[in-house]
Amino acid sequence: MQLPSSLLENAVAQFAKLPGIGKKTALRLVLHLLKQEVNDVQHFGETIARMRRDIKFCQRCHNISDGDICSICANSMRNQKLICVVENIRDVIAIESTQQFNGAYHVLGGIISPLDGIGPDQLSIESLVSRIEKEETEELVFALNPNIQGDTTIYYIQKKLAHLPCRVTTIARGIAFGGELEYADEMTLARSIANRLPVQQYVK
Ligand SMILES: [Zn+2]
Repeated sequence: MQLPSSLLENAVAQFAKLPGIGKKTALRLVLHLLKQEVNDVQHFGETIARMRRDIKFCQRCHNISDGDICSICANSMRNQKLICVVENIRDVIAIESTQQFNGAYHVLGGIISPLDGIGPDQLSIESLVSRIEKEETEELVFALNPNIQGDTTIYYIQKKLAHLPCRVTTIARGIAFGGELEYADEMTLARSIANRLPVQQYVK
C-alpha cells in the first residue's frame, strides 16, 4: 500500500497491529480520525495512553481495577464466599453481562496448556488456594472454556483444594465442547451458571 505521507503510514501501521484489523481497515480508521478536530484526536490518544499507564489489577481477584481492590470485591452486597474462577478478564465481563452471578471472581490469567508452555506456576493458582484458605470460601465455581486445557486446569486446582471444606462446582455444559466462553450467547451462559455441577461429576 503506497501512502502519500509517512505520518499517515506510521498511524496505519499502529492500527494494523490490533487484532482483527487489516491494513485497509486501519487506513479507513486513520482517515476517519484525520477528519476529526485536533483536540478530539488528542483526547482519543491520551485516553488510550492513560488507560494503559494507570490501569491496575485487583490484588484479590486479579480483575481489572481502578484501585487496589476492584469494585466487585469491594461490593458487600455480593456473596464474597462464592468465587467464580475464570481464565481472563473478558470472561468476567461476559458473566457479568448475564446478571446471573452475585459472587466474586478469580482471574487465573490463562489456562494450563503444556503444549503452549503454560504451567500452573504461570497462573494465579497459588493466590487462589491461599485466598480460599484465608477467606473460608464456601463455594468455588469453575467457569472455564469446555476443552482439554479447561478440564486439565479444573482437575489440577481441584486436587490442590482437596484438604479444604470448600464446595467445588463447575458451570453446566451448555456450551459445546471445544467452544469459547466469550462467544457464547447470554442465555446459554446464564443457564450454565444456574445449572452448575459438582466437579467430581464433571471430571469423570
Ligand atoms: Zn477483585
